[in-house]
Amino acid sequence: MALIVQKFGGTSVGTVERIQQVAAKVKKFRENGDDIVVVVSAMSGETNRLIDLANQVTDGQPVGRELDVMLSTGEQVTIALLSMALIKLGVPTVSYTGSQVRILTDSAHTKARILQIDDQKLRADLKAGRVVVVAGFQGVDEHGNITTLGRGGSDTTGVALAAALKADECQIYTDVDGVYTTDPRVVPQARRLEKITFEEMLEMASLGSKVLQIRSVEFAGKYNVPLRVLHSFQEGPGTLITLDEEESMEQPIISGIAFNRDEAKLTIRGVPDTPGVAFKILGPVSAANIEVDMIVQNVSHDNTTDFTFTVHRNDYANALEILRATAENIGAREAGGDFNIAKVSIVGVGMRSHAGVASRMFEALAKENINIQMISTSEIKVSVVIEEKYLELAVRALHTAFELDAPDRQGD
Ligand code: ADP
Ligand code: ASP
Ligand code: MG
Repeated sequence: MALIVQKFGGTSVGTVERIQQVAAKVKKFRENGDDIVVVVSAMSGETNRLIDLANQVTDGQPVGRELDVMLSTGEQVTIALLSMALIKLGVPTVSYTGSQVRILTDSAHTKARILQIDDQKLRADLKAGRVVVVAGFQGVDEHGNITTLGRGGSDTTGVALAAALKADECQIYTDVDGVYTTDPRVVPQARRLEKITFEEMLEMASLGSKVLQIRSVEFAGKYNVPLRVLHSFQEGPGTLITLDEEESMEQPIISGIAFNRDEAKLTIRGVPDTPGVAFKILGPVSAANIEVDMIVQNVSHDNTTDFTFTVHRNDYANALEILRATAENIGAREAGGDFNIAKVSIVGVGMRSHAGVASRMFEALAKENINIQMISTSEIKVSVVIEEKYLELAVRALHTAFELDAPDRQGD
């Protein structure tokens, strides 16, 4: 008998019919003798609808505490509906909000981190033969305030519960049948991966593949939670996220391609090139709590240089204002920016043992006449910034260049 945590995402519980299908699936597992904890997201579109409501009554950013009180209702509706559907099928069940379980988090509203989970109640319910249904994406801080875990946070609830309960597996059910070489919505030739390492999945997630929330992968890696991504309503093995990095001859150099359109680029030109220049430019940006991703400083000309960096698009307007002020202070020629950019990254542990991966990437982009604006590399990834309009072309070209296309669909 196994203990399994199953997380169902927004589209999988997007309608009453789907919730009933999920209930039937959970019932089947239980009839096999497994103990089941189910984590559910809000019905698809619900979290966005709630955010939109909040924006209508707010100038600027809604207050985090109040936003969390509201956002947590999305998941609260689904746990109740799923429990009712299970009861109708004769399955004993009980639903809990994050706060009822006591998923303790810090107080960083809208992006809280889980600190501790009280597993007592859940264990008692499982022992009594009940299926436990838990609301994803939410917790409670030490003062009793409701918190949420950031977009996609139900994945993290699932993995954290699996870690706390030492579950045999955490299954993430979604609208694709596993983790693919790249987003199958963008590249039809994308292929499902049998396995991917935590390290690669972490890079993929942090570079834009939204199939798993980054924190859920961090958590699973840290506590060694067996994690699998599966299709909610189709049979199949899905994709296993694993620790071991099997050395095999067929191991591809690149496991996947990630991309995101969430960044914007800022440039300050004609900066007097003196020691401490990077700090003078980025210090005020970081003081405003704006995270900087890629950074490029050009070789100086006539003792002045250009300096470019990227930030999240939401921070673009703020960062540009700060940069303009800095330009005046340090006597730079001008500051400007561009948010029609996209970042494309190739990821793979195979890169460690192969040379020339980056140049193969650049060659593939050059063949499509795509200009590279910025580059950054680490041990298992290479990222480039390009003009946004070339994003899909770039991803497809790289998918083919690194021989990732599904065999029967090459050159589709
Ligand atoms: P859920 O609502 O179940 O949490 P998400 O929308 O968060 O589902 O995640 C599933 C989606 O992630 C897929 O529909 C797919 O478009 C997207 N996706 C992005 N990159 C990948 C990838 N490499 N493999 C699979 N899906 C991906
Ligand atoms: N409902 C939340 C969101 O849409 C959390 C989740 O689905 O994982 O981001
Ligand atoms: Mg998700």
